[in-house]
Amino acid sequence: MQARFYNGLSRQYEDFVPLNDQRVTMYVCGPTVYDEAHIGNGRPAVVFDLVYRLLRELYGPDHVVYARNITDVDDKIIAKAAHDHVDIATLTRETTEIYQEDVAGLGCLDPSLSPRATEYIDDMLILISKLIELGHAYVAEDHVLFDVHGFDGYGQLSNRSLDDMLAGARVEVASYKRHDLDFVLWKPAAAGEPGWESPWGRGRPGWHIECSAMIASCLGMIIDVHGGGIDLTFPHHENEIAQSCCATGNKLLARFWMHNGFVMVNGQKMSKSLGNFLTMRGLRKDHAGRALRLQMLMSHYRQPLDWQTARTSEAHAIVKNWGKFVSDAPREKDDDLLGALCDDLNTPLAITIMHRRAREQDHGKLAFGWDLLGFADADEQPLIVHQRLGEVEIESMLKARQDARKSRDFAKADQIRDDLLSKGILIKDGPKGTDWEYAD
Ligand SMILES: [Zn+2]
Repeated sequence: MQARFYNGLSRQYEDFVPLNDQRVTMYVCGPTVYDEAHIGNGRPAVVFDLVYRLLRELYGPDHVVYARNITDVDDKIIAKAAHDHVDIATLTRETTEIYQEDVAGLGCLDPSLSPRATEYIDDMLILISKLIELGHAYVAEDHVLFDVHGFDGYGQLSNRSLDDMLAGARVEVASYKRHDLDFVLWKPAAAGEPGWESPWGRGRPGWHIECSAMIASCLGMIIDVHGGGIDLTFPHHENEIAQSCCATGNKLLARFWMHNGFVMVNGQKMSKSLGNFLTMRGLRKDHAGRALRLQMLMSHYRQPLDWQTARTSEAHAIVKNWGKFVSDAPREKDDDLLGALCDDLNTPLAITIMHRRAREQDHGKLAFGWDLLGFADADEQPLIVHQRLGEVEIESMLKARQDARKSRDFAKADQIRDDLLSKGILIKDGPKGTDWEYAD
């Protein structure tokens, strides 16, 4: 079956044909490891896990190479380690482990490669030297900077001119830059900060060069798919393209650029100050990974995902129901479901098809979708198995809800409903009153 994806580079749907169908390559920008990963880090992990699974289905599991990096050197890491009085190696190791456990709990396969930036410093030094040699980078006050004026294609991915990019970006203004958009390839390390010897003094790499070096080392000069969150388009991905293309002389770094949309929580931007900051670890404590995965896939990957906390229990009830039918069922390929995923990863349609298979008791096809969508590999249970709410407590909450509705306090009534949902109680209003059942 032919897959087609929306290519962020051409801004069009295109048939996906890999350069080499024996070795399909994809790279996704992974997390900077300094804190527990949040749901905004979880979304690209799940979305591109599904792309990986789809490509494995189409080209064979041995013919797809997927690299998802770990950024383990960064200003934020240095600041967090200093704040917590821990050493950087311990912080990045522990945070990486938590991230990998969390995305595995959401059903993500291990990528073929999980390169850590600090293991590729030599490759970065070679790449930076090459860019200087070719006149695309310059040394100024112990920094090495990329000269954006020397690359005609700068702005091709975000489809903006230099002036537009400058207006929309928060660029660091520095006296040693030739152009404000010039970005750091290497910068000096202060005493006590992590650093490596280089021809330009002891220092550390900029974030963007890390990905260009790891892509070239792990996958090759031109790859088939490059993924990441939409917020990385500019400057990160734009800069990756500039560095890689200028070093190789190629016109392309990746043939397909795929970006997932933003994540919001209950209709609002997620932020620590609003108190709606959701970590994957926190979600996994209360909910099965399967339910979280389904809830993520309910939105198309390019659309914003508005995470409604009260809806996770519904998602759990759905996967719980599907799960009853699939364990022993012989797998039967479902061309409709595969076709939905081949159509730019249309997961809302794929989920509709799963509902239909369950309703029609077509368990072989349901099981095929169950595996391909990755539910089989996700956690069946929350990390913390809660005590169920007792019937008496539920009935009294339902009574309070009914009273609230009678007095037309609908906000309170909705709040009680959401409370019940978040505790795994499904409620159904009917002409004869309100029924309820345990989601699990
Ligand atoms: Zn990257």
